[in-house]
Amino acid sequence: MSKKFICDGMLGRLCKLLRICGIDTLYSNRGTAILVEARKEGRIILTMNTRLRGKEGVYFIENTSPQSQLESVITEYKLQRTIQLFSRCIECNDKLVPTPKVEVRDKVPYFTYKHFDDFAICPSCQRVYWKGSHYKKMVSEIGEILGKLSNTK
Ligand SMILES: [Zn+2]
Repeated sequence: MSKKFICDGMLGRLCKLLRICGIDTLYSNRGTAILVEARKEGRIILTMNTRLRGKEGVYFIENTSPQSQLESVITEYKLQRTIQLFSRCIECNDKLVPTPKVEVRDKVPYFTYKHFDDFAICPSCQRVYWKGSHYKKMVSEIGEILGKLSNTK
């Protein structure tokens, strides 16, 4: 089974980066209640909270740069091969559903409809995703990390 995570309140950016990579990640900003939430779903806790350091099922994050945080989590849990960009909603963590172009016609700007062919929708928030400039920006943001990791496999 693939690994699942839950980020604490200080790791919102890391949470989004993990979702961009298609990794199942929840976000919790309710302090130590994160322990209960994590146990309920068998999630690994990613935290900067020193009070949780060393506890079972907790990965303590030392680095303050989100990119470095992502790199350390991917390395620690050997996630390189599970990464699937463009497969999970950045806001809800839900799996995106590939959707025929014609069905998003009224949901995206005309320019987007005209120039892109691959669309996916989040079943929770209905947000439409496509591999446009935003996607390219996300990919370049993490591309460097992924490139570095694939060289050291
Ligand atoms: Zn969503």
